[in-house]
Amino acid sequence: MAKIIDGKKISQQIKDELKEKAAKLKEQGKTGALAVIQVGQDPASSVYVRNKKNACAYIGIESLAYELPEETTEEELLKLIAELNEKEQVKGILVQLPLPGHICEDKVIQAISPCKDVDGFHPQSVGAMTIGEPGFLSCTPAGIIQLLKRSGVEIAGKHCVIIGRSNIVGKPMALLMLRENATVTITHSRTRNLKEVCQQADILIVAMGKPQFIGAEYVKEGAVVIDVGIHRDENNKLCGDVKFAEVESLASAITPVPGGVGPMTIAMLMNNCVQSIEEE
Ligand code: NAD
Repeated sequence: MAKIIDGKKISQQIKDELKEKAAKLKEQGKTGALAVIQVGQDPASSVYVRNKKNACAYIGIESLAYELPEETTEEELLKLIAELNEKEQVKGILVQLPLPGHICEDKVIQAISPCKDVDGFHPQSVGAMTIGEPGFLSCTPAGIIQLLKRSGVEIAGKHCVIIGRSNIVGKPMALLMLRENATVTITHSRTRNLKEVCQQADILIVAMGKPQFIGAEYVKEGAVVIDVGIHRDENNKLCGDVKFAEVESLASAITPVPGGVGPMTIAMLMNNCVQSIEEE
């Protein structure tokens, strides 16, 4: 039976550490706000935005909510970002994705000042991460590194196979695992022999966005399995990309869904906000 990597508990530890740090910074006169922008009323986005505001309140950081109507133009959104870039009290700017189809996400991401890019999506943040310079790390992959480290999983020298090459999970995940001295293989929708490649993984990170796709036949005995996927099954229950029950009996450690990677993403967002306040 695998050890269950408890993302809820680990994210709580991180948030408590950040709360303490934010209070100390406040004593030194260092404060700041996170601006959260939502365009439209996608229900999943509304839940994420609410969770982010609640996390700010817990840690003791001010959050400013900008709830814009669906028909907001790209120009209007870019103008708001330009204003927030100039506001001294705003230390982080987060635009909840996805945006409505008429707004170009890349343009919006690139409009955010890299000093306030707490999501870590700006090309400058990605570039800095690639060459190991200081900057904001993309939250989900950074959260996975914390999950592994705080669960005592050794990374250096291990073979890590990542399924997925998206800009927000797969690619930055590969770079961060490389930074931790893992030997990294990235797989994707055009990979041949996915099963055989995955069977070689000491650490298997699954971010493919396919509900309960990865079963025991993809997993080497004793591997550590990290499930990034979030879906609702036919009974409206949350599930991941991994068939948890059958993989759990084979792996040495595994993250559940919910309660694995998900809570870490917000904790690392808060980490980036506190870092931004500290560096003002
Ligand atoms: P995406 O759709 O952008 O990327 C999916 C990747 O999986 C692609 O690179 C694709 O090549 C690969 N893929 C798809 N089918 C495949 C196949 N059959 N074989 C091999 N590779 C395949 O998704 P994403 O944004 O990276 O997110 C992945 C999952 O993680 C989604 O379920 C998403 O909801 C979830 N997610 C969770 C968090 C969190 O905080 N827990 C954060 C971001 C994303």
